[in-house]
Amino acid sequence: MQVAVLGGGVSGITTAVLLRACGYATTLVTAAHANTAHGADWPRLASHYPAASVIPHTVRIANPARHTRWSQACFDVFTDRPAWGVRMQRHAELFEAPPARPAYLSALRRVVHLPNDGRGASGLPRRPEADALFGWTFDMTFVDAPRYLRKLYRAYQAGGGSIQRMHILPSNRSELPGDVWVNCLGAGAPQVFEDDAPATFLHGHLLHVKPPVAWQAWAASATVQSYNYAPTPACYPSHVEDVPGGLYFYPRASTWIVGGTKHPAHRHGGYATPLRGPTRHVHGVALPQAMWTTNAALIKQLAGADFRRASMRVVSGLRYMRAPEGDGVRLCWDSGPERPTIHNYGHGGAGGTLSWSCALHVAHALMKRRMPSQPPPASAPFPALRYIINRLLENPL
Ligand SMILES: Cc1cc2nc3c(=O)[nH]c(=O)nc-3n(C[C@H](O)[C@H](O)[C@H](O)COP(=O)(O)OP(=O)(O)OC[C@H]3O[C@@H](n4cnc5c(N)ncnc54)[C@H](O)[C@@H]3O)c2cc1C
Repeated sequence: MQVAVLGGGVSGITTAVLLRACGYATTLVTAAHANTAHGADWPRLASHYPAASVIPHTVRIANPARHTRWSQACFDVFTDRPAWGVRMQRHAELFEAPPARPAYLSALRRVVHLPNDGRGASGLPRRPEADALFGWTFDMTFVDAPRYLRKLYRAYQAGGGSIQRMHILPSNRSELPGDVWVNCLGAGAPQVFEDDAPATFLHGHLLHVKPPVAWQAWAASATVQSYNYAPTPACYPSHVEDVPGGLYFYPRASTWIVGGTKHPAHRHGGYATPLRGPTRHVHGVALPQAMWTTNAALIKQLAGADFRRASMRVVSGLRYMRAPEGDGVRLCWDSGPERPTIHNYGHGGAGGTLSWSCALHVAHALMKRRMPSQPPPASAPFPALRYIINRLLENPL
């Protein structure tokens, strides 16, 4: 049985690797790969932009806690292999007003809540003007996305998976290989397969900063190594209802990721987004003032360095929010007029986080229908993934 996985972002390559681990013959068909240079296939390739934190932020999906648990279990396969760029670190989600309890919180590991009275806790970054601090810290899976995606592509090809370059259109769809298709085309999906669900985009700007101080010098003794921080709206106005304006800091070994924006953007008008509140130009790009000054204060407390003096560049990507008021991620079997198709797209701001759990869902859908497969490859990481899949079959999503 031959499966064609459509789309070479994190969802596509992860699904293709997992299906190889299940013993399916797979072809990844895509216009561009997630391990190519930044900006290739913009705005259709979101996987160049995550840091990536494994937390289901800014996405709509049924049972986010279970998805988080399953994805964490798969990422665990890579945490003791340093070359893959996956590690566990202490992370803080911090708010200057009492936050709602997110549905994914129960899936996070070793959660410690800050006191309810807003007095905060020592060792955590805090805006000097903040009256109160709420939130929690936890052990988070952090993925150095570019390094990890390169490894995933190599493992896929070493395990016998093939890749075909193709720009897929409704008119050439019938030329696609495969007895079954898995649609991981991200924002490109509705142009190829019918989908009436409404879609919006959230533009995300971030800074890629050359680390002014080495990770080893500060991270081991820091209370947390990364943060998401929601200041009051007066400091950082939100552009999306129910999503606080959020700052964030994720240090990779070679690049610090300093963010960020979540501003509604539209196809018409080239995704240009007017910003609310005070702005500041960095390398000619208008960014919210808080992204520059408040992050500088928070990072100084954490890592002891002023990132604003380091060399940096501004990058921006789009989070494709499918059916943001409805069912969100499209993850389902479709008998289809041409070939059976499993849809797996619309992951918003959490495609890295959901990559493994959604791939497991796809594998489970094929196995449930008793689609035949061959013995899986013996090379790493396939046997370890196979073990996880067996656990899933005992306890389906
Ligand atoms: C600024 C920013 C920060 C983010 N941070 C995080 C984070 O920390 N953690 C996290 O989990 N997520 C994060 N995300 C979200 C994450 O990046 C996306 O959800 C994820 O990359 C989506 O992956 P995907 O594979 O589904 O889609 P994409 O990466 O968009 O891939 C789609 C693929 O399909 C191909 N394609 C599309 N149309 C066609 C066509 N017609 N023919 C052929 N090929 C086609 C494209 O070339 C591409 O290879 C962030 C996103 C942004 C923008």
